[in-house]
Formats: sequence, structure tokens, C-alpha cells
Amino acid sequence: MRQGETAPKGAWIGNASGGVKAPEPIILPDPGLRFSRTAERLEQLADGHAAEGWLAFMAEVSRAQAAAARPSTPRVPDQAAIAQAVAARIPPIAADGHRRDAVWRDGLAVLLESFDTMMFPPSAATAIADLRRRDALEKESLADAFLRGGVDAADAGVVFWIAAALQVYFTRLAATLPAADLRLLERRDLCPCCGSTSSASVVTVTGQTPGARYLHCSLCSTAWNHTRAVCIVCGGSRTLSLRGVEGDSGLARAETCDECRTYAKVFYEAKDPGVDAYADDLATLGLDMMVGEAGWSRHAPHPLLLVG
Ligand SMILES: [Zn+2]
Ligand SMILES: [Zn+2]
Repeated sequence: MRQGETAPKGAWIGNASGGVKAPEPIILPDPGLRFSRTAERLEQLADGHAAEGWLAFMAEVSRAQAAAARPSTPRVPDQAAIAQAVAARIPPIAADGHRRDAVWRDGLAVLLESFDTMMFPPSAATAIADLRRRDALEKESLADAFLRGGVDAADAGVVFWIAAALQVYFTRLAATLPAADLRLLERRDLCPCCGSTSSASVVTVTGQTPGARYLHCSLCSTAWNHTRAVCIVCGGSRTLSLRGVEGDSGLARAETCDECRTYAKVFYEAKDPGVDAYADDLATLGLDMMVGEAGWSRHAPHPLLLVG
């Protein structure tokens, strides 16, 4: 652990050609790429990793999510309702308030069908079989429980798959939103589309504003700009430090805040252009453990680890 390393001060607002551009505030996901990209990256990261078997499992989950992201486009939300929500600074597809299109369960069916259980411990196949036995009403109430944060410990195994299917559904839904009309929420730590917390953040090296930080939504995969060197949770900047594993490449850092005792992970695209906010988050749980043991809590739980 590198203690006391200070965070860079201020956001980068220039570009190489000398012009000054503000970072694009919101980048909507591409459902066709989001999950296949995470799957490929996880496969690559799994190779020789201490948690190789588990990362390979998560890669297969992402691959099944990619298959589920292909068919069945959800009903496009009502444009007037979106405009109204944006004007009121409410997430237009709020995870806990949005009326789900039943099509998310078609995605769940494809996801379960596509997952290759043969490669993994029997517990995965057991949970999938258990979930297949549940009727639509039960699946809907498990989805509600997950989205409202009230999962029963006994349901954790099946809710893992529900959560994976909801990621696909919300990602497809977010992709239908009118990007130019959306606005960041007053709570900058929450997704401007669905109101969920972020997974990890990435400091970019490409795009119109290299050096900008983007938070990546843990549910709908939207990326939104967040000022660097400002705590995601409390907005403080006085006691931030970047901490990493001694001798690593510098790709992953935990930004710790002593004011609210939380941390959030940051990945630097400059250190590896292949970085993926979702895959690399899973592959760097060692960093979470180190920072957690030192007394900081993660800014928000990981949606699949919460119940997996
Ligand atoms: Zn979101
Ligand atoms: Zn803080």
C-alpha cells in the first residue's frame, strides 16, 4: 500500500489542440458492446489471476448477459415523462420507481439459457434451476426486492441472476434515452438515468476531454462525468488520498476520504487502454480488501457481489 499519495488537483479541461472543452456530462451505453467487452476483459484478466476460477465464472455471466442484450428491445419510455423527470432532476428510468416492461423476463430466460453451467460448480446450476421454477409474479417480487435493497439472504443465490438480467434490461433502456436532453442529478454520486450508485470510475485518455473522470453506473451502464479529486460520497477534497498495491502498474487506485471514511476505485486508462470499469473492478478485489482492512468502506456495494 502506498500511503499518503495525494490525488491530482482539479479537473483537466483543455485538449491537445489547445481548445478548451467541457467533458461530455453523460455517455449512454452501447448494449451491443457493454457485456461482450466486459466478458472479453474478464477472460483476459482471469488468466493466471489468484481468483482465476471466479473471474472465469463472471466472464461467462457477462457472456450470457451479452446474449440476453441482443433480442427484445424494451418499450421506449414516454418522451414527455422523460422531459418532466429531467426538469425535476429525477432519474428518468429510476431503478426503484420505473414500471418495468415484462420483456426483462425474456432477457432473463435468454441469460439462463445461454449460461454454460457445465464449466462451473453445481451451485450455479442449482440456483438457475430454482429460479426457473419460480413464476412471473415471484420473479417480479425478487426484482423489486433487489432494486429496493431488501433481498432476503435465503434468496441471494437466485437474486444474483435477477440482478444480472436487470443490468441487461436497464442498459438496453438507458440506450434509448435522448442523451442531449439528460442532465446530471444534484447528487453527483448517483446515475443521471436510473439513480443507482456507480461501480468504479475511469479517468480517460481518449475522447474529447482526456483526463476526465467518469463514474460507471452499476445498473444501467451509463457513464457520467464527476470532477476529479472530489470525494464521490461527501464532496470533500481536503483529505483525499490515492492508495494502490505496492509495485503494481498504477492502473487501479482507491481514492480514500478521511472526512467520510469511504473510498471509491479509480482506473487510469493511460496505464491500460483495455481497462473496463466492470471487469477491472472485479479483478481488483484485493485492493478493496486492503483498503477495507485499513478502515475505509466502499462508496457503494457491488450489485452482483451483494447477493452473489
Ligand atoms: Zn444507471
Ligand atoms: Zn468523503
